Amino acid sequence: MSFFVMTKTILKSLFSKPATEAYPFKPRTYPKYSRGSIAINTADCIFCGICARKCPTQALKVSRDAKNWEIDRLRCIACGACITVCPKKCLSMKNTYSAALTIKQKETFSNA
Ligand code: SF4
Ligand code: SF4
Repeated sequence: MSFFVMTKTILKSLFSKPATEAYPFKPRTYPKYSRGSIAINTADCIFCGICARKCPTQALKVSRDAKNWEIDRLRCIACGACITVCPKKCLSMKNTYSAALTIKQKETFSNA
């Protein structure tokens, strides 16, 4: 009995569309409001540090003196708190993910 059930499942799988996407061969499409990665427009940033103080995971580091804004993508949980509090509205959420990291590294943006 179970042999026939298994054969039926195999035949059904052979002739149906795959349940998964062929990523990375087929580019992924993201829903409009999906949460991806934080982006910054450094031209508008005043390096006030409010975003870093409100970040629940300490993913952000801001240096006013060095005019430096830094994000640790492995710490960021894409909560959006930094976007909400930024007085200059220079942070945004891209709906695509940042590239996978193979080593622990930080992205630094500087206006120095
Ligand atoms: S809150 Fe906005 S303006 Fe202030 S440091 Fe962060 S990104 Fe820059
Ligand atoms: S989205 Fe949340 S966790 Fe990520 S940097 Fe902003 S405040 Fe921090």
